[in-house]
Amino acid sequence: MKSATKYVHAGAHPDPATGAIMTPVYQTSTYVQEAPGVNKGFEYARSQNPTRKALEEALAVIENGRFGLAFSSGVAATDAVIKLLNSGDEVICGKDMYGGTYRLFTQVFARLGIGFRFTDTTNPQAVRAAITEKTKLIWIETPTNPLMSITDISAMADIAKEKKLWLAVDNTFASPALQNPLDLGADIVMHSSTKYLGGHSDVIQGALVMNDEALRDKLYFIQKSCGAVPGPMDCFLVLRGIKTLGLRMKAHCENGKAIAEWLRRHPKVAKVYWPGFEDHPGHAVAKKQMKDFGGMLSFELKNDSVEEARRVLCATKLFALAESLGGVESLINHPASMTHASIPREERLKNGLSDSLIRLSIGIEDAEDLIEDLRQAIG
Ligand SMILES: *Cc1c(COP(=O)(O)O)cnc(C)c1O
Repeated sequence: MKSATKYVHAGAHPDPATGAIMTPVYQTSTYVQEAPGVNKGFEYARSQNPTRKALEEALAVIENGRFGLAFSSGVAATDAVIKLLNSGDEVICGKDMYGGTYRLFTQVFARLGIGFRFTDTTNPQAVRAAITEKTKLIWIETPTNPLMSITDISAMADIAKEKKLWLAVDNTFASPALQNPLDLGADIVMHSSTKYLGGHSDVIQGALVMNDEALRDKLYFIQKSCGAVPGPMDCFLVLRGIKTLGLRMKAHCENGKAIAEWLRRHPKVAKVYWPGFEDHPGHAVAKKQMKDFGGMLSFELKNDSVEEARRVLCATKLFALAESLGGVESLINHPASMTHASIPREERLKNGLSDSLIRLSIGIEDAEDLIEDLRQAIG
């Protein structure tokens, strides 16, 4: 089945009780049993809920996986993956990553005895060199947030298989419409469903998708034991969002390309980070593993000061100044003071995240209007 069809029909079955074409919001905490232990497969809503079940099936379908699990947020999904590990184990992860993931790793799990080796995952040799006998997991984001650097998923999967490690990929930026890490050999795909899957900036949610049943059982055990499950209304919203994922991503990518090219020609812009440019260091790998280059990009101004960045950030009218991404509306963000403020400044600068870097989440408005807004804001 082709992808647009898949997005519309994934997880959709007429409701058995009424025939409702949309999965109802099963707003219930428990289910009545016919006799002790005799039930219809639903006992208590932390463990099972029909709306969540439909969504989890959809998540598996859209990532070409066998099993999906939905969580109360993207970081809750990441948290569940790290809880596969024991104290003393190590994770190899990228240097440029979502600030909340960095905070979870360094301020929660490091305290509990799990080691994190921040490595340049765009270089497979560096990943090989970072592996120790304690390494259990490779955690990557590609494209990264916010520098849009690209890691070769197949190359990471080869290393993971050879060294018997798990490979988990945060696929939030690409979305399943542009990249399917399980097809490239990853063991776990993670999403902040808050972003492109939900697509309308109205829900916080996370997802994991995998193929291996034993791994699914371990993660399901963590999901129900730790309890970071999404409510049924939020599952309904993400199910609805997924239906238009194909259409939305097409528009995000078209607009992303138009704006990246326009920004690159702007005399006041020093650098544009977008993997669609042929001279982007990750372009060849991006072209190989992604269907298109997405609607996320970052740029630096020639006047490299926080003040000038702040001026632009406050001057846009259509681009709303806000954290998050992947919604139908365009957002503008200042990673150094917003999404990535939890990463120490020296660490940020070392990784190439300058004080003046501006990140855009390009929405599905008309590109001309978005360009006009940036034109008047940059001046
Ligand atoms: C937003 C985001 C997360 C965290 O997801 P939440 O839903 O906010 O918990 C993780 N990774 C990336 C790349 C993100 O953009």
